[in-house]
Amino acid sequence: MEEVQERLKKVRQYVRETAVDCGRSPDDVQIMAVTKTFSAEVVQDAVRAGHTLFGENRVQEAVAKIPRVQGNTLRWHLIGHLQSNKVRPALQTFQVIETVDSQKLARRIDRVAEDLGLTASILIQVNIGGEEQKDGISPEELGPLVDLACELENLELRGLMAIPPFQEDSEASRPYFRRMRKLFERHRQGRERKFTVLSMGMSADFRVAIQEGSTLVRMGTAIFGPR
Ligand SMILES: *Cc1c(COP(=O)(O)O)cnc(C)c1O
Repeated sequence: MEEVQERLKKVRQYVRETAVDCGRSPDDVQIMAVTKTFSAEVVQDAVRAGHTLFGENRVQEAVAKIPRVQGNTLRWHLIGHLQSNKVRPALQTFQVIETVDSQKLARRIDRVAEDLGLTASILIQVNIGGEEQKDGISPEELGPLVDLACELENLELRGLMAIPPFQEDSEASRPYFRRMRKLFERHRQGRERKFTVLSMGMSADFRVAIQEGSTLVRMGTAIFGPR
């Protein structure tokens, strides 16, 4: 309990300092606690420390874990790949799907959302490093997917998400974050009111991500320790 609380306190402080140092408002950067592989008990410690925004990678793990965490107004985001046969439980479990990366998946989520009588909040995941093995849509194909997501009636497109290629030195991630910021600015034009989230940066590179415009950093190790 105390360990998670202490780490959260430090993370909040680092995030705040980084934002202020680069002339941004600390309120413009949300901190997500990434709970994959950690137990509901450990997550509960973070809730007790006042944390409300969480991320999980797998639908199955989340379906088992989330009902065991007590708390009001907790928000859960899916940050791992979504298979089309898991769309229904994903929409019943998560408030935001951050990993929409194809027109097919967008249409499928729209249909299931209609069926469930809800509006699905989504982010589009961009494969900003052009890595073959990674999920995410290419920057070139992003425009048509943004247009489609805005057209589909049961989707609400809230922004973009990316996981740049792994780097030993976080400074090497800067060009990827910068490119994401440019895509974000370009595609949100005319849609600024709802298109507000740029989800990028993890425990090892959140400072650089914030300097380059991230509005949501996803932190696992820094809050819960090594996996
Ligand atoms: C695991 C994970 C994180 C958190 O990674 P840490 O390095 O532990 O902070 C963030 N985003 C995604 C998509 C992840 O899978």
